Amino acid sequence: MMKVGIVGLGLIGGSLGLDLRDRGHQVFGVSQRPQTCLRAVERGVVDRAEVDFSLLGAVNVVFICTPIAAIAPTVKQLISYLSPDTILTDVASVKLPIVEAVSPLWANFVGGHPMAGTESSGIEAALPNLFAGAPYVLTPLETTPPAALQTVEDLARSLQSHVYRCDPADHDRAVAWISHLPVVVSASLIAACASETNSSVLELAQKLASSGFRDTSRVGGGNPELGLMMAQHNREKLLSSLAAYRDHFDSLMALIEQQDWQALEDKLQLTQKERSPFINSEFKIQNSK
Ligand code: NAP
Repeated sequence: MMKVGIVGLGLIGGSLGLDLRDRGHQVFGVSQRPQTCLRAVERGVVDRAEVDFSLLGAVNVVFICTPIAAIAPTVKQLISYLSPDTILTDVASVKLPIVEAVSPLWANFVGGHPMAGTESSGIEAALPNLFAGAPYVLTPLETTPPAALQTVEDLARSLQSHVYRCDPADHDRAVAWISHLPVVVSASLIAACASETNSSVLELAQKLASSGFRDTSRVGGGNPELGLMMAQHNREKLLSSLAAYRDHFDSLMALIEQQDWQALEDKLQLTQKERSPFINSEFKIQNSK
């Protein structure tokens, strides 16, 4: 059993704390606000919590779970309190900028991204078993110490996550397609529907909206901070995926304008087939490391 530190006791940090304590580890939390530290102990998320990094002097592994913009500044402050063999990992949804900023500061660092969440945030949003059945991506470099990688991987597996290893830039490109692009597409969909100028048609559409609209609008109607964060920290890869999306959108629109129903049907038959490898869980689990 290990001593584990968690910096940033919100949805992800708090949920990790609940599971890691459940697996028998001793968990020490550091968060910005004293009230959050109190609630984290009250909720059983951590064994102890403070606003001060000195609590983490003797831990084996630290998970950095602050908002993305605070990760590198947090690591800079934290490292003078750690013993050199402490393993550092993070949970940020974007990997290349984090790995580039943190690796030169701490040799024993492993970039990570548990791909689970809810629409809520903060310590009250923390949930047990949030990561079970979800992907957990690790983005080691050639210089990453194998023992550090193995330790983080073992912890991720103990959460019942499916662990994948990949290059940080490949991670960011992949999540641009399946996570960040859908937010922008879905937000555009909501904005377009809301722009109906006839108020009785708008009201009717709102009444008729059902599961199809609920599914396609979910990620565009979520926490604005998350969408903003993705755009700011994965801007280039998001823009490339948006350009490809615009091409496909334009060609579908052209087929409809030209009433080329055969070509439209062919295209929709193809997309029906192409969807499966993205969502078929058996296929995905077979391919996890
Ligand atoms: P969150 O619920 O807002 O939690 C972050 C917590 O960090 C806040 O509650 C805040 O607690 C604390 N904090 C903020 N600045 C800090 C600082 N400088 N030092 C110490 N603590 C600080 O956010 P989250 O959704 O858990 O996201 C955290 C990280 O997980 C992000 O890097 C995000 O990219 C990643 N992630 C999120 C999701 C998701 O779906 N939400 C999924 C995977 C990964 P107090 O101010 O109350 O102390």
